[in-house]
Order: sequence, then structure tokens, then C-alpha cells
Amino acid sequence: MQLILLGAPGAGKGTQAEFICKQFGIPKISTGDMLRVEIAARTPIGQKVQGIMAEGKLVPEEIVNSLLMARLKLPDCKKGFLLDGYPRTISQAELLETNGILIDAIIEIYISDEDIIKRLSGRRIHPQSGRTYHIIYQPPKNPEIDDITQEPLIQREDDKEETVRMRLQVYHQQTEPLIAWYQKRSPNKYIQVEGEGAVNSICDQIMQKLGSVMEKRDGDRHINQG
Ligand code: AMP
Repeated sequence: MQLILLGAPGAGKGTQAEFICKQFGIPKISTGDMLRVEIAARTPIGQKVQGIMAEGKLVPEEIVNSLLMARLKLPDCKKGFLLDGYPRTISQAELLETNGILIDAIIEIYISDEDIIKRLSGRRIHPQSGRTYHIIYQPPKNPEIDDITQEPLIQREDDKEETVRMRLQVYHQQTEPLIAWYQKRSPNKYIQVEGEGAVNSICDQIMQKLGSVMEKRDGDRHINQG
């Protein structure tokens, strides 16, 4: 199963990605996470992208493309993968195509800008473990403190409201055109779900729609073989 998860920053892609990956036993490949690892390890790539990410802009394509292509070559991708945060431009989607990387379904989670700003600017992270909280929707037991280790929580630099607004602007300008591109190119593989609502019900909708896409795909294969 080779999947793409599309949606604005803060639409809930990370949460849904974890669920989908568990269901199908496939790795989640997040270019954002990979870049954050480079920053934490202070590699030359990390140093190059740190400022760009803190401003909410897209990092140069040659950097994400080479990180992604190297990651897709690892053996755990043989059984499939879910891409979270890639592609973010039509040219990145074209790169997948020209490298013969076939996609079974594209899942878009959509949500309004105002809801995203509320969600992201309240998000807090325990940097050592990656545990996330939300000051309103999922608060820690003690404000700004991790429940398990009692260490302080942080706000990701790019979750600050001004940066979130920039990330949304970048999303509308550079990533949204991908929606029409995929809808036109792969209408039978395109799934849309509303990102506002209970996490479980969004998961259920995704799984149900993915099931229909797979049934259709398998039916078409059967006809072609028969
Ligand atoms: P994310 O965790 O997916 O929200 O990504 C965080 C940041 O990493 C983005 O705001 C970009 O600066 C950078 N980034 C992640 N994926 C890509 C990509 N496919 N193309 C360009 N920049 C990316």
C-alpha cells in the first residue's frame, strides 16, 4: 500500500498517519520529521534548513527530494509507505512519477484556516519523546509540563501564530494546486475527509473510503486480467 496524505499544516495528518500506518503495517515517512532530525543533529543540511523552517517556508526541493529518495530505498518501504508532508508542490509529485513510484491512494484532510491557527498555536511538545499536547483540547496535567517525565514542554518554533500564518499562505499558494492536479490525474484514487471532529470518526471515514478505492482497484485488475 503506497499512500499520500495531503492537507494543510495542523489538519491532523500526523495523528491519522499513525493510525493508518498501524493498520497496514507500513512506515510513516514525514519529510518534516526527517528535516527536524537533521536540525537536531546539527548536520550541514540541518544548518541550512533551520532558518527556512522556522519562518514556515518550504526548504529547497533538492534537499527534500534527496532525503526522500534515500528513505524510500530502505527495506521497510518494500511493503508500502505513507508519505506525510510530501509532495508539497506539483514538481515534487512529478518527481514521484518520473521515478516510477506508484501511489494507491491520495488522502486529503481539509479544515478551515481559523481552526488550524487555533489548533497549532495551542500545540505543545515534549521534545525528547515527541509526545504532543494541546493547551485546550489535550492539556497536560500541569501546565507546560510533560505528564510522564515532568520535563518542560516547548512550542515548536514553526507553531507560533505568525509562522503558522506563513505556513498556511505557503500551503495555499504551493501545495493546494496539487489537489486539483491529483483529482484530475487520479480521480479514482482521491479521497477527501473533513478534518474537524473526533479523531476516531475521521479515522473511520478514511478507512471506509480507502476500502472503496482498493475494491475498485482490485475489481479493475480482475477485469483486465479476465
Ligand atoms: P511538516 O512537519 O510536514 O509540517 O514540515 C515542517 C517544515 O518542513 C515545512 O514547513 C517545510 O519548511 C519543511 N518541509 C517538510 N516537507 C517539505 C517538502 N516536501 N518540501 C519542502 N519543504 C518541506
